[in-house]
Amino acid sequence: MSAKAKARAAGGAAPVRETAPAGAAAPFRYAPYVWTYPEEALLAGPERLAEQIAALGFGGVAVALTYHRARLLFPRYGRVETVPAGHIAFEPDRSRYEALAPSRTASAETVRAVHELRAACARHGIGFHAWLVLLHNEALVAALREAEAQSADGASVGRSLCPSHPQSAAYVRALVDDVCRQFGPDGVEVEAAWYPSWEPGYTITIWQGEPSARALRLGSQCFCRSCRAVFAAAGEDPEKLAAETRAAAGPPFAVPANGSAAAPSAAGAAGASASACPAVAPGAEPADAEAVEAALAARLIPPRAAVMGRLLARAAVQAHAHGATLRTTAYGEAATVALQGVTPEAVAGVDGVILTLGERSDQEMLAHFAALRRLTGDAPAVVSTNWDPSRTPASIAADVAALRAAGADGIAFYNHALAPHEALPALAAGAAAAASPGRSIPALPTEAR
Ligand SMILES: [Zn+2]
Repeated sequence: MSAKAKARAAGGAAPVRETAPAGAAAPFRYAPYVWTYPEEALLAGPERLAEQIAALGFGGVAVALTYHRARLLFPRYGRVETVPAGHIAFEPDRSRYEALAPSRTASAETVRAVHELRAACARHGIGFHAWLVLLHNEALVAALREAEAQSADGASVGRSLCPSHPQSAAYVRALVDDVCRQFGPDGVEVEAAWYPSWEPGYTITIWQGEPSARALRLGSQCFCRSCRAVFAAAGEDPEKLAAETRAAAGPPFAVPANGSAAAPSAAGAAGASASACPAVAPGAEPADAEAVEAALAARLIPPRAAVMGRLLARAAVQAHAHGATLRTTAYGEAATVALQGVTPEAVAGVDGVILTLGERSDQEMLAHFAALRRLTGDAPAVVSTNWDPSRTPASIAADVAALRAAGADGIAFYNHALAPHEALPALAAGAAAAASPGRSIPALPTEAR
């Protein structure tokens, strides 16, 4: 799905046009790097892959050691790879985990190729980043149902652990430690660490009519048992907060007053479940809907950000113990990302953030960068950008220069394995435009060494 389609799916509004600051661009702090999948290490051969990535001008490669289910098209290799839910491309040391322990799903040959790629990166002088999809893992969800995230109606989201559950944080710590012990990565890049938003690209929602952006944002709010405990500790009445959130989300999380569905008999009763569905007025959105959402966000975000700050800081401590840095991705429209718990405080304990810009270019790209940057304060910001057939070498180079001028600290290109032949000149042009002395990994904070 294109970024635009994803933005539409997320109900995103048209971006505000912003202008890049005038004047010469400051150099990036970090050398550019590129994402890839472990399967490419086997398809290309580890040595050849490291050589190609270095020859394109990249200073590092991020390899997805854990991933969500997907069908991946590798046009330069004539291959389609379907990876399963909870894809794990290394051999976990299960003794290091608690209740949630992953199992290898990739072939033994693929795992061997990834280890060889890691060694080849060192020989070619490029950084090796462990790219980890953290909480989107159906196998782990099945192993501990009480840790599963829910949507605001109390239904399981079907794919994701909730960060509020203590075992989710324990899993993240153990995973980072395990991967660092086995691969000695220069950096760890964690994706899907946050509270889940409405849906990832690999889930299809079947619904007649157009869901509102607000319904998807607020309807994604989790009020599982662990989240309710988090909100109660913050002084909220969790049931009241959940009911207010569903009412503000509107259909299908709240039933229109003239709807045919019966209101749950438990609604309003003491101890009403999180799935109790408040009735709302039918028709157009209330005039004060924006203000109501803003007031709710001010109550929802700080407790979530506090949980995320602890989870991420503890994961970073594990990475630092092995000499690696840890960054986390922010993906989606800014209002959605904010409700996932992304604040400057939540990322204070990590070494930087990766702001995902997708196929956006030019002013739309800069506007999205600025919107996500506002959520992460002064954390070092790497941007991740996708090749797309509309992006030429010249346009990619111009976009890179604009992002440098706008204050990005580094750039990552998505994705070496997926790129067709015609994309490679654009990736090389992007790497050349981004080339800066230094490493693709931020230096470890002094206190972490
Ligand atoms: Zn939850």
